[in-house]
Amino acid sequence: MLTYTIEYCVIFVLLLVTAYVVPAGLFHYFFFTRCSTATEAMRIQKRRPSSQDIRREIRQSVSALLLFSAYCLIVYHAARNGATALYFEFAQRPWWWAAAGFAALVVLHDIYFYTTHRLMHLPPLFKTVHAGHHRSLTPTPWSILSFQPLETISQFGFFALVIFFVPLHPATLLAYLLFDGLVNAAGHCGHEFVAPASQQHRLLKYLNAVTHHDLHHTRFRYNFGQYFNILDRLFGTFLDRPAA
Ligand SMILES: [Zn+2]
Ligand SMILES: [Zn+2]
Repeated sequence: MLTYTIEYCVIFVLLLVTAYVVPAGLFHYFFFTRCSTATEAMRIQKRRPSSQDIRREIRQSVSALLLFSAYCLIVYHAARNGATALYFEFAQRPWWWAAAGFAALVVLHDIYFYTTHRLMHLPPLFKTVHAGHHRSLTPTPWSILSFQPLETISQFGFFALVIFFVPLHPATLLAYLLFDGLVNAAGHCGHEFVAPASQQHRLLKYLNAVTHHDLHHTRFRYNFGQYFNILDRLFGTFLDRPAA
């Protein structure tokens, strides 16, 4: 029992740092601690988040991580027993496998996120699953994991699927968690730092800018995608507001 408790604590701290404190802290530092006239000009909404909003986002995010850590402990033991698709020696696969695995995670996660996110917005599910995240009308980087328990299960369900079906090295998974956290923190930082030229570029315009997810927090019915807005464009849920 003591071993499980220690393992759980190690996993929780690892996730807290990698998936939350580092990404959210970095964007908080750049846009809220070191705010200047330049960062003020990038601010998307006039409304400012209150310290009460931020405290709620942190509380909900830490609760989500406590639940996710329990799930990771189960996965850790499944991996030790060889029940997952994870591999542990880099030499077991070609050199490009880790990069391909990372790219596959980005694409698969975007599809999973769009689909589950749209489902969560259906009236019978919204209140019990996703309304907690939308309490942040003016999101801050600390809201990236601010989920109700049912949303936590859905959000982290993606990792449950890939761990058992996609052969990945744990380092690829950890690097992806950090990348995902950074992109998510960018999407919730409330400041548009993506240059207008990139937002209008014929290929780069398919990547979400900060404004897109920020608009999702105020308009609810648009911009469900995580990294790309291709599915939003295809299914008529894309709302763009290019920087002037
Ligand atoms: Zn959000
Ligand atoms: Zn939503």
